[in-house]
Amino acid sequence: MEQQKFDKEKDSSEWFTWIIQEAKLADIRYGVKGFLVFQPWSVEPMELMYKYLEADLERRGHKKYWYPTLIPEKNFYLEKEHVEGFSPEVFWVEKGGETKLEERLALRPTSETAFYSMFSLWLRSYKDLPFKTYQRANVFRYETKSTRPFLRSREFYWIETHNAFATEEEAFKNVLEDMETTKRVVFGVFGIPTIVFKRPDWDKFAGAVNTFGADAITPDGKVVQQPSTHMLGQNFSKPFNVKFVDRDEKEKYCYLTCYGPCISRIFASVVLTHGDNKGLRFPFEIAPKQIVIIPIMAEKEPKVLKKAQELKEKIEEAGFRVELDAGDNKRPGEKFYFWEMKGVPLRIEVGPRDLKEKKVMIYRRDTGEKKAVAEKQLLKEIANEGRFLSENLKKIAKAQLDKSIVDAKNIEDVKKIVGRGIARCGFCSVESGGAKCAEIVEKETGGRIRGTRIDVKEKANGKCVICGKPAQEVVYIAKEY
Ligand SMILES: [Zn+2]
Repeated sequence: MEQQKFDKEKDSSEWFTWIIQEAKLADIRYGVKGFLVFQPWSVEPMELMYKYLEADLERRGHKKYWYPTLIPEKNFYLEKEHVEGFSPEVFWVEKGGETKLEERLALRPTSETAFYSMFSLWLRSYKDLPFKTYQRANVFRYETKSTRPFLRSREFYWIETHNAFATEEEAFKNVLEDMETTKRVVFGVFGIPTIVFKRPDWDKFAGAVNTFGADAITPDGKVVQQPSTHMLGQNFSKPFNVKFVDRDEKEKYCYLTCYGPCISRIFASVVLTHGDNKGLRFPFEIAPKQIVIIPIMAEKEPKVLKKAQELKEKIEEAGFRVELDAGDNKRPGEKFYFWEMKGVPLRIEVGPRDLKEKKVMIYRRDTGEKKAVAEKQLLKEIANEGRFLSENLKKIAKAQLDKSIVDAKNIEDVKKIVGRGIARCGFCSVESGGAKCAEIVEKETGGRIRGTRIDVKEKANGKCVICGKPAQEVVYIAKEY
C-alpha cells in the first residue's frame, strides 16, 4: 500500500485525488471525459444518503416519480431564460440507429421541462394542490470547465423535486422547508454544515425568480455548493400552461418550486469535510461498513476466529453493517491501517486474552481512542460510540466552517481571505447596481459573491468594499472548489 504524501489541510485537492483511488471510490478511466465508474465504497454510502433525503421528502408529502431521461426539444425551448442558461450544456440525441429523428431529444440536464409538461395534463382544480413530487435521477451536463470526480462530472446523481402551489406564499413556504431538509439531513445526518444564501440575481438558476443555495467549505477554504432550492414563481407555469381552477372558479397559473440535492456532490463534501491524513472518516449513519472486526493471533488460537465470527453474526443481526477481516495474509497493524484509510467508524479487536476475560476492544476512528468493553455490553456500546462519533465529526466540521468566515474591510482584505476562506463584507446592493461591483470582485480576487444570508439576519454597516457607497447588504465572497 502506498503511503499517502499529502497534508489534507494544505493540499486538499491532491488529497482528494489520492483518496478517490486509494479507497476505491471511483475509477476515472472509463474513457469518456467527465464520466466515471462509481465503485461500491461510494455507491453504498450514496444509496444511504438517497434514503435519508427521500425519507425526509416523503414525510413532507412529496410523491416519487420516474420520468424519461429524454426530453423533446420543443419542451426544452419553452422557457426562454432556462434555454439560454442550459443550452450550452445539453447533450442531444439526434439519431435512432441510422435514422435521423424528426425531433432532437435532450438528455435531461435537469427536468423542469419534463415535469411541467405533464403537470399541465394532471392539474385541474385547487383540490389537486399542493402537488409535490420528486425523482431520483442521473442528469447530464456538457461541462466546459474542467471536470472533477463527484464535484463536477458530466453525469451526476441527484434528487429533484418539482412542486405546484396555488399561491406564492405557499410556494415560498415550501422553499423554506427545503432549506430545513438541507439542515436536517445534510448537516444533521451527513455532518456537513452549510451557510444558506439568497443568490444574487446574476447567479440564480436559469428561469427562477429566486435561488437559495447552501454552501459548504473545503478544508483549504473554498466553497462547494450543496442543495439549492428555487422559487420559480409563474415563470414555467405560463409557457407550460400549468393552470388550476381556484375556489372563486377563476382559472389561475400555479406557482412552482424545485429543489435539487446532488448526491454525488454532497458525497464529495462528506469525503472532503470529514477525512483526515489517514484517509476517510464516515459518519456512522452512512458508513458502507460501520464496524470492522479484526481477530488477533487467530492462527495460534482457533477459538479467536470462532468468537470473531460469532460476534459478526450477532452484530449483523442487530442491524449494523459489519465486516470481518479474518484473512491471514496481512498483519493486524496493516489491517488497522487499511480500514482506517477506508473510514470505518469502529474497529473491534478480539484476541486470546479478551476471550478469557469475556471482553473485546473497541477503537474509534475519529478520536483514535481504544477501550475494553464487556462482551455483554457490546451492542449497546456500538450504538453509543457510533452516535458519539457522528456528533464529534459534526462538531469538528462546524468549527471549521465558523473559523473560515473572516471579516473584510476593503478589497485588499478580500484578496487575502479569498482562496483560503470566506470573506464577509459590506456591499452596495445585490438587488440594484451591484452587478458591476461583483464583476470587479471576480476579476480582482478570483472569488464570487455567494449572496446574502437567509439563515441568519445580518445588518450592514460601513461601506461597499468596492465602490465605497454606503453598504446595504452583508455579502460573502469565496472561491469555488
Ligand atoms: Zn458597490
